[in-house]
Amino acid sequence: MDDYSRLIPRMRPHSGSVFGEFSALAARLGAVNLGQGFPDTDGPDALKEIAIASIAGGSGNQYPPRHGLPDLLAAVCDHQRRFYGLDYDPATEAVIGTGASELITAAILALVDHGDEVIVPEPWFDVYGAGIAMAGAEQVGVPLARDPERGFRLDVGAIADAVTDRTTAILLNTPHNPTGAVFDEQQLAELAEVVEANDLIVISDEVYEHLVFGPDVSHVPMAAMDGMRERTVTLGSGGKTFSFTGWKVGWATGPADLISAVRVVRQHLSYVSGGPFQPAIAAGLRLPESYFAGLAAKFGAARRLLADGLSGLGLEVVPSGGSYFFVTDVTGLGWDRGESFVEHILANAAVVAIPVARLSSGDTGNDYVRWTFSKRPEVLSEALRRLGSIDLHNPAIG
Ligand code: PMP
Repeated sequence: MDDYSRLIPRMRPHSGSVFGEFSALAARLGAVNLGQGFPDTDGPDALKEIAIASIAGGSGNQYPPRHGLPDLLAAVCDHQRRFYGLDYDPATEAVIGTGASELITAAILALVDHGDEVIVPEPWFDVYGAGIAMAGAEQVGVPLARDPERGFRLDVGAIADAVTDRTTAILLNTPHNPTGAVFDEQQLAELAEVVEANDLIVISDEVYEHLVFGPDVSHVPMAAMDGMRERTVTLGSGGKTFSFTGWKVGWATGPADLISAVRVVRQHLSYVSGGPFQPAIAAGLRLPESYFAGLAAKFGAARRLLADGLSGLGLEVVPSGGSYFFVTDVTGLGWDRGESFVEHILANAAVVAIPVARLSSGDTGNDYVRWTFSKRPEVLSEALRRLGSIDLHNPAIG
């Protein structure tokens, strides 16, 4: 009882998912929802058939093994080796969860103590702060730096300066939600030096690993940096990689000592989940290269459509290379708060986007609005048509 009452004030700033809130708003107002990042077309039929057969044949209807179906654990480890040359033992160095979300929270609860500080590049995905609050730890935001040519970058110097003797972990996300930034090898190598020098661990959210666009952009896992395999828990998501966000199957890989702690916490959260979906995701992870290239090509085209359209309407699209999202800087159209811009387009054009201020502390996100392009071309075009029918400038500026 005592613990529970202490949790309430800690959790108050994290009282609900901002994405769910905006989706509910879009549904209520009949708006085009470019707020929440979920695809509106499904992943491969072949994977659906495996899940259906697993229900019909009975193999998926009871508890799977608590750390995950052995075949899926093996497929996860094969995937890390195939794409990144990283070796993990499925018996001790991987675990399946109810989406990456559960594993993020489980990793924080397992690896971060009450009173610790966790550095999180800012803006951020809101699940991190909630998990850190539940652990009784403190979230220390370090704003990303913005490079006019290349978009957002890690500010490794500022991260190093933010480390104190209470810092135990860094929560990294690449490709990044909400900015779409993909952190390159050089930035990650610099970050790795800070991690090693301060004896930290990294919880690396890489759910958008296969959603990177453009010939000169590639996903680099943090665990592949020198010295980082032993210090990094990496999260992946079947929802993002196979466009089945409702199935909620995710995975974590890392060294046995860290993963064994994550396994203990995770099994007390949901015990197991996704029985019929686990064999389907295992098959997905073994799909040929053409599947993964096709996924990136499809979402890359959607990104171009929305980014070109919004630029054409006078919005400044910040350069990015991955994820389901990018952000626009709305100050050029006379807005000093992204939230006011979002209210304006919702009221006048019935289009929903997310003010980045809701994904950051202080003033960091004020100038930006996040857009998802994880929608069919006709939905993106309809949003652009609606936005094109109004004046996007701040009417309060003469
Ligand atoms: N991490 C990030 C950065 C995300 O954007 C999301 C989903 N929006 C998740 C994790 C959650 O993934 P899952 O659906 O597998 O729980």
